[in-house]
Amino acid sequence: MMAARRLSSLLSRSLSFSSSGAASLLHSLAGRNINRFSTAAAVEDLITPQVPIRYTQHLINGQFVDAASGKTFPAYDPRSGEVIANVAEGDVEDINRAVSAARKAFDEGPWPKMTAYERSRILLRFADLVEKHSDELAALETWNNGKPFEQAAKSELPLFVRLFHYYAGWADKIHGLTVPADGDYHVQTLHEPVGVAGQIIPWNFPLIMFAWKVGPALACGNTIVLKTAEQTPLTALLVAKLFHEAGLPKGVLNVVSGYGPTAGAALASHMDVDKLAFTGSTDTGKIVLELAARSNLKPVTLELGGKSPFIVFEDADVDKAVELAHFALFFNQGQCCCAGSRTFVHERVYDEFLEKSKKRALRRVVGDPFKKGVEQGPQIDGEQFEKVLSYIRSGIESNATLECGGNRLGSKGFFIQPTVFSNVQDDMVIAQDEIFGPVQSILKFKDIDEVIQRANRTRYGLAAGVFTKNVDTANRLMRALRAGTVWINCFDVFDAAIPFGGYKMSGIGREKGIYSLHNYLQVKAVVTPLKNPAWI
Ligand code: ADP
Repeated sequence: MMAARRLSSLLSRSLSFSSSGAASLLHSLAGRNINRFSTAAAVEDLITPQVPIRYTQHLINGQFVDAASGKTFPAYDPRSGEVIANVAEGDVEDINRAVSAARKAFDEGPWPKMTAYERSRILLRFADLVEKHSDELAALETWNNGKPFEQAAKSELPLFVRLFHYYAGWADKIHGLTVPADGDYHVQTLHEPVGVAGQIIPWNFPLIMFAWKVGPALACGNTIVLKTAEQTPLTALLVAKLFHEAGLPKGVLNVVSGYGPTAGAALASHMDVDKLAFTGSTDTGKIVLELAARSNLKPVTLELGGKSPFIVFEDADVDKAVELAHFALFFNQGQCCCAGSRTFVHERVYDEFLEKSKKRALRRVVGDPFKKGVEQGPQIDGEQFEKVLSYIRSGIESNATLECGGNRLGSKGFFIQPTVFSNVQDDMVIAQDEIFGPVQSILKFKDIDEVIQRANRTRYGLAAGVFTKNVDTANRLMRALRAGTVWINCFDVFDAAIPFGGYKMSGIGREKGIYSLHNYLQVKAVVTPLKNPAWI
């Protein structure tokens, strides 16, 4: 891919990657077997990224502008904890300005009036521009987030582009129905954009979350105010600029940086925002739902936390199960809402699985995410780093067995050793709470009825993984597990067309795929008598 070819001009040390055709499937990173131990030295000697940080202001009404207050806040490099940019800090007034630009663009601007085909072409031109800038975007994403550059460049950027191709394809295929109602009436439904969409995104996949939110909203003809996570404001500003270069009219997509309780809360409670979409923690999801309800009752889509089971049956090929379970948990530094964070293993293969899982975790390559072959970078920030370490302490205190890891790696930045716990019991905090870090919990089970019940005994219901060769087992589990996604013999397959979202406290609504369009459309029923009625 282009990102790989031109990378050497962007990084101070040249790296070379082979191309990956299956880049849209994040699970393509699974299966690598790099026989190296993590060392503290690997996280001290850092590559200096040679990418410019071009945009740090809000993007409102097509213009980069300072915060109304003039304030800025720091964006960090999680490899070192050093400040890499100072970014405009949004608050109520910035959100007001952005919403008023989005309102005007929706009520008066060309966007909702242009043909769906013209909108689709802007999305396609944007996707092409992102593809051209994907090396710069991947490097910026890694710099501000800490995820491995190879993952950003080979999986996430191609998936980002694919998502916009997918939504461009939908833009001119959104239409209502003719309804066979009783009586002499012609009844039709019009599927109309909702209006101004407020979108609040997290820091773990800044670009992918942008695409999941912005793609369907624009395909349906809405206008947007997007609030990025305070930890990762940089890449959204660059892609939003590219959107304008692709011909997006001003005011259609406004990006405000800032903190949650200020800028985020102002957006969630704004009276002129017609719809809210949020991805983040369950606790914050409850807050924004309440803000939306107390203001103008705007509909809310929530994609929240998870504690996904990954269930390995006794017929499994243990080596393959170990690799997939490892990937399901450790991918993206364990910072995935759907991470397979409860690894249930059948008692007949438990000992072998445990031994091999521990060896696999010890082989995991932790280091500077810009370096080739590195599988795990730092956690996003000091707060998350401390939180993960405190969960590790809780696991030890509750008498789970610490098989490996358990400490920070190096002396700067937010690196944590890949950590494996065995003998984990269902009622331990580490088996109940979302840890959001590189901490695998392995639990033993005896039979299928028991594991179904235990897997479902959680307040979350985002995803689940099942590893078995037995079709009956797979069929039974896919129906019995109460989760928005069930991956059978695979994990983290995130195609643009596959819906994603949660049961229970993992959220409300679905993103991606055809279902995501429902979030951004109003249905209007239009009823016309077939003959002129007597009363006119
Ligand atoms: P985390 O705890 O993992 O950082 P959060 O759910 O707090 O996750 O953050 C996800 C997004 O929600 C971020 O963009 C953040 O700024 C925003 N956010 C946090 N608190 C609030 C709030 N009170 N109101 C609105 N948005 C918020």
